[in-house]
Amino acid sequence: MIISSTQEAQAELARLFAQSQRAVGFTGAGISTECGVPDFRSPNSPWMKNRPIDFSLFMSDPLAREEAWRRKFTMDDMYAGAQPGRGHRALAALVASGKMGAVITQNIDGLHLAAGTPAQKIIELHGNGTYAKCLACGKRHELVDVRAEFERTGAAPECDCGGAVKSATISFGQAMPEDEMRRAHEEANACDLFLAIGSSLVVYPAAGFPIIAKRNGATLVIVNREETPLDEAADLVLRGDIGSILSPFATSQ
Ligand code: NAD
Repeated sequence: MIISSTQEAQAELARLFAQSQRAVGFTGAGISTECGVPDFRSPNSPWMKNRPIDFSLFMSDPLAREEAWRRKFTMDDMYAGAQPGRGHRALAALVASGKMGAVITQNIDGLHLAAGTPAQKIIELHGNGTYAKCLACGKRHELVDVRAEFERTGAAPECDCGGAVKSATISFGQAMPEDEMRRAHEEANACDLFLAIGSSLVVYPAAGFPIIAKRNGATLVIVNREETPLDEAADLVLRGDIGSILSPFATSQ
């Protein structure tokens, strides 16, 4: 069933939450567009301007590493100071109330944490762009330090151990994080209500989680303003603006 009226979508979601014992949120870039962070696939996306630097190139080519950092800082400046939106706040409230067991996210913007969802309830499948990590020893590096070093030397930063420092995100060609994948599987298998919010659902393996949940008997709800390839598999499609649809739940603690 597809619902395009915001009020009807809200009523249907309220009904589903009332019946659910254990819900899971699964989010994509669309939940953050109202916060000023552009999504990946909508028209004029700044993310699409350049061909992505894949992981093997990042590792093998110092010039590619420098270019990756230049792009990273340019993108960061575009949405510096972004604050959580109504969708993030709704999910934080649903987690706080015990209705939602976890938020699985493809996003790298840190806005679920900023909205108050506890870190242990957030599963970041594609990492986190708000800090950096040494690829050799795993040490965390703060972006403000990395940037100062990059601007001073013009070279891609290295860790004390000599390892390459990279934004703590998962690049094309980089292995998915094992622990996060395991936890996401557990949550998708254990929930009775799975909400896919603001994702085009074309990036795998992440887009496999709604299917896993559905196969295990969960009710699958897709909240997105555009069609997705999983709409036909969903029990319910709420076609509209995420912030408007989820806003009543932002106060449901
Ligand atoms: P996507 O760009 O492929 O899809 C986003 C979907 O959200 C689109 O279908 C779009 O129509 C919809 N959408 C956008 N704003 C909306 C709104 N206000 N209301 C309803 N729907 C809205 O994003 P994806 O599926 O998450 O895949 C992109 C990949 O790029 C992810 O893996 C992610 O790691 C990365 N990415 C992350 C961010 C972020 O952290 N905010 C931003 C861009 C890209």
